Amino acid sequence: MLNRKVTYRLYPNAAQKVGLQEMLGLHQRLYNTALEERIRVYTETGQGLSFAAQCRQLTQWRQSSTGLASLNAQSGQVTLKRLHLAFQHFFRRVKNGETPGFPRFKPLSRYPGWGYKTHGNGWKLHPGKEGKHGRLYLQGLGLVPVRGKARTAGTPVTCDIVHKAGRWYASVTLAVESISRERGTERGAFDWGLTDFLTLATPEGTETVANPRHLRNQLAELKRMSQKVSRKVHMAQEVSGREQGVPVSANLRRAIAHLARLHAKVARQRKDFLHQISAELVKRFGAIGTEALSVKNMVSGGSSRKRGLNREIHAASPATFLQMIRTKAEEAGSWYEEAPTRELKPTQRCHGPCGPQCACWALPAEKKALSDRQHQCPHCGTACGRDENAARVLLRWMETRLAGQELSEVWSGGSFTAMTGHSAGNEHETHAIAV
Ligand SMILES: [Zn+2]
Repeated sequence: MLNRKVTYRLYPNAAQKVGLQEMLGLHQRLYNTALEERIRVYTETGQGLSFAAQCRQLTQWRQSSTGLASLNAQSGQVTLKRLHLAFQHFFRRVKNGETPGFPRFKPLSRYPGWGYKTHGNGWKLHPGKEGKHGRLYLQGLGLVPVRGKARTAGTPVTCDIVHKAGRWYASVTLAVESISRERGTERGAFDWGLTDFLTLATPEGTETVANPRHLRNQLAELKRMSQKVSRKVHMAQEVSGREQGVPVSANLRRAIAHLARLHAKVARQRKDFLHQISAELVKRFGAIGTEALSVKNMVSGGSSRKRGLNREIHAASPATFLQMIRTKAEEAGSWYEEAPTRELKPTQRCHGPCGPQCACWALPAEKKALSDRQHQCPHCGTACGRDENAARVLLRWMETRLAGQELSEVWSGGSFTAMTGHSAGNEHETHAIAV
């Protein structure tokens, strides 16, 4: 069984909107109260509170609070679980020698939502015709119309209610029997482009996949809007003479809401684009290679505000995109693997030929800067675009990984996991490899 997520947008009536807001408030207070309890118990006894102990507390609280008693019991436990996970995450990072922030109290305005564990317990999905749209039953609210469609039919398992930019969504996990996806027959490797979305190398040559124009335009609009909002905030700070707790005018409130909606829209369209491109790649290629993500190849330049936007819109994409390809390749049973970036150094190494059966594979004496858009090899004289070279290095790497095997031999539905032999690990300056 596989799990797949589908997001529905909720269309609550006026009374249901009030009800959803009340539930959000109850879960937010439960979260903050449980956090307070963890801190109190630790301060008094030096002992932490376990998730199980907090669930027992919840049972008691439900007996004395009509609000909490009206909540679905399992959904309350899910909220406690989220707090538990926040603590686990915190302790794990402390153990790794990092300095994480302590789990925080959350204001209602930024509280994300709540979840349910079991289909039929507090919630029930009634999909419409052909699994499209339909209604979602929520305990205490009744049937709420929803819009959305699962890519693959399945049985609902869990549900998260999400409040984002003034709208309500339900993220439903479906258990899916099996997914059949068409598998391509070509071989291809790609690298991230700086100006293009991807540079793709195949045995026939290289191609680029551009960022869609509408997203570029929206990004400009997003930048403009966010500057407008920060100008307004700055003005309000000047007028009130305060840094924090500035009075928010109706005008500013509207601008903030508009910005949040635009943000959500761009993120949604970006995700659709990633789904589309990853599906196209898997449909065309039976073997796909790329480089593993490192922090370094995810950070981009720009001013701090621009970096902030880029980070949110772009930097989230590579990880999401690779996950999408991984999943889709698995569904199609095709070969997919990520090269170890640090050892292979695809942007530095030369893909050029040193003979009919071997690659130059040289690393430059001086490291290429991000601003060097050209690849110019001092050893073999190969000259091409930087992204093109990187994609071709990845293709060479992939060919050695497949080592002359026919695609039908590697289509066992999996890919190699361990790096073997000499392929890329211990290469030095001018070491040539057989391809
Ligand atoms: Zn070379």
